[in-house]
Amino acid sequence: MPTFEYAPAPESRAVVDLKSSYGLFINGEFSDGQGGDSFKSISPATEEVLAEVSVASEADIDNAVAAARTAYTRVWSKMSGADRGKYLYRIARILQERAREFAVLESLDNGKPIKESRDVDIPLAAAHFFYNAGWADKLGYAALPGGENPQPHGVVGQIIPWNFPMLMLAWKIAPALATGNTVVLKPAETTPLTALLFAEVCQQADLPPGVVNIVTGAGPTGQAIVDHPGIDKLAFTGSTGVGKMIARAIAGTRKKATLELGGKAANIVFDDAPIDQAVEGIVRGIFFNQGHVCCAGSRLLVQESIAEEVESRLKRRLGTLRVGDPLDKNTDVGAINSRAQLDRIVALTDVGEAEGAVRWDNGCELPSKGFWFRPTVFTGVTQTHRIAQEEVFGPVLSVLTFRTPQEAVAKANNTPYGLSAGIWTEKGSRILWMADQLKAGVVWANTFNQFDPTSPFGGYKESGYGREGGRHGLEPYVKGTQS
Ligand code: NAD
Repeated sequence: MPTFEYAPAPESRAVVDLKSSYGLFINGEFSDGQGGDSFKSISPATEEVLAEVSVASEADIDNAVAAARTAYTRVWSKMSGADRGKYLYRIARILQERAREFAVLESLDNGKPIKESRDVDIPLAAAHFFYNAGWADKLGYAALPGGENPQPHGVVGQIIPWNFPMLMLAWKIAPALATGNTVVLKPAETTPLTALLFAEVCQQADLPPGVVNIVTGAGPTGQAIVDHPGIDKLAFTGSTGVGKMIARAIAGTRKKATLELGGKAANIVFDDAPIDQAVEGIVRGIFFNQGHVCCAGSRLLVQESIAEEVESRLKRRLGTLRVGDPLDKNTDVGAINSRAQLDRIVALTDVGEAEGAVRWDNGCELPSKGFWFRPTVFTGVTQTHRIAQEEVFGPVLSVLTFRTPQEAVAKANNTPYGLSAGIWTEKGSRILWMADQLKAGVVWANTFNQFDPTSPFGGYKESGYGREGGRHGLEPYVKGTQS
């Protein structure tokens, strides 16, 4: 299989040796799936096959859950928090040591620019392990249900999407292990490779077999985890549609679930905002990770008096974005993760045009192979347009205007979602008032898309329930909580 190299500086190189095929990671070992089926993980930038990956059948999920149960009963639940913490620290350090390898593999499999996987995804994933390692022996001080002696659920099933494969894995696995649970995790079918590399890290860290199990496959594999009677708690990040199906599937069972779903965030720019900074924040808000971000600032709400100026500065700035090879460190916008996602973006932007919004893109040249979409802005968008209501999950910004703060709040809150929002203004009092009025789990002021392991993240309304990150992110993993 091909070897991919990325040379960030002349003195250092990162090499990823891809195997031609990957099995499932169950009970500390890799093995082929029992059904014998496999799927291909491809590079979205070149459509080249990166590897064949096993599909986990129901029998494999049975084995993974049994391994997680045995590891929970015999080892992990008996271990002191301090010892669990040592494993998490070890994993965090290995992630740092192998950060370049992870970054290259993430960009290859996902299509995101290397400067993002190198500077954001992988360092943040390691930071989540460090942060949760610190809690493992201090859970009695974390104000969790159970007080001084919070109790883990047992075996946790975790299902994650393709937009931040390693980061979502870290958000899920680190707090689950810190609180004493064992895990069966399924990465998304288009981005399984860094989760499988993480399985190697678990081996390297001598994590007891069965504490972490990685099972690959598509929806049916996820469904088998959801339905398995041996799963005590579920944590899902993905689309609102699948989240609702999971909520229905576990209704009436003893299983708890945390659901992190979609978003349609408003990035709200007032006429007293520092415009250049705001333009950078708008760009970061929606074009970071090709807009494949649940909390992306996909709706720009700009005060009417400065709308023209902001739009023209924004378009000028978008003309400088480099779209292309994810492994080129100068690339700003990488490949769309899959053909299916590209088709969704194309379909929804066509609807935007058909409904009367004015479409503009930066006109850049696109590579001949792979899945690409130009940074696109829709102006003249009204609240009823589908591109103002539905998640495009691509590099597409919908621009709406407002006159008063009250109107901005009303428009910002007028979607089924409630995950995040941004406010750009010089006035501190306005920031506080807006933050109070906005129905969003995360509100950024004069910045956007900032993440930190100490900060809780999660949504209202159809964006889901439960929080990840921070002390709050430990709560769903101990008994006595709602989700
Ligand atoms: P998706 O719901 O199609 O898939 C997510 C995961 O669920 C994948 O691993 C998939 O294989 C699995 N899955 C699919 N059908 C399933 C089923 N019936 N039962 C169990 N598992 C199943 O979503 P996606 O297209 O992979 O991801 C994009 C969505 O994720 C967007 O809507 C985005 O907003 C959301 N997202 C949310 C957050 C957050 O923290 N709120 C973070 C990232 C992504």
